[in-house]
Amino acid sequence: MDLVSPSSNPTFTNTAITSPTTPTTPTSATVTTGASSTPTTSPSSSRYENQKRRDWNTFCQYLRNHRPPLTLPMCSGAHVLEFLRYLDQFGKTKVHNQTCPFFGLPNPPAPCPCPLRQAWGSLDALIGRLRAAYEEHGGRPEGNPFAARAVRLYLREVRDFQAKARGVSYEKKRKRPKPKVTATPPSEIPPPDVDSSAG
Ligand SMILES: [Zn+2]
Repeated sequence: MDLVSPSSNPTFTNTAITSPTTPTTPTSATVTTGASSTPTTSPSSSRYENQKRRDWNTFCQYLRNHRPPLTLPMCSGAHVLEFLRYLDQFGKTKVHNQTCPFFGLPNPPAPCPCPLRQAWGSLDALIGRLRAAYEEHGGRPEGNPFAARAVRLYLREVRDFQAKARGVSYEKKRKRPKPKVTATPPSEIPPPDVDSSAG
């Protein structure tokens, strides 16, 4: 599930980042990376933490490569949207255009030139991790660009469009028709307490 791994090139130098634009956070480089005797984190949560760190590094690298250069405090929801669109080039999910004859088909019978994108579920999870990472790195919750309204709206748009384009449902809680349960007798519903306020 490493959807965001454009930073896995071997040319990545692990230089210490001296960012002049973080006056409030002290340079606390004493991170205990041993964790040999405290197995408090479950494997799944540490996997999440690893993924979160990688996503955060990817985003920071994106900021460094941005022209004009961007720093974290300058980031807005619009920049996050830029980042998400940039990630689409690494996507592996076929999303049909509305003009494609396979639009809306879950299993198209033939290839088509429609682009590959990041799946909505991946983007949604990514934003969740970055939102948490932002605040863990000293960002203020009220200024969190990953929690911006524009980002939420964009994700909803992506979800809806991909649901249509791929013919899949992203509904979390699908309201199924209840199977007939005959174990319990239909309980008598007490009549509503009609308030005779007319008068
Ligand atoms: Zn197509």
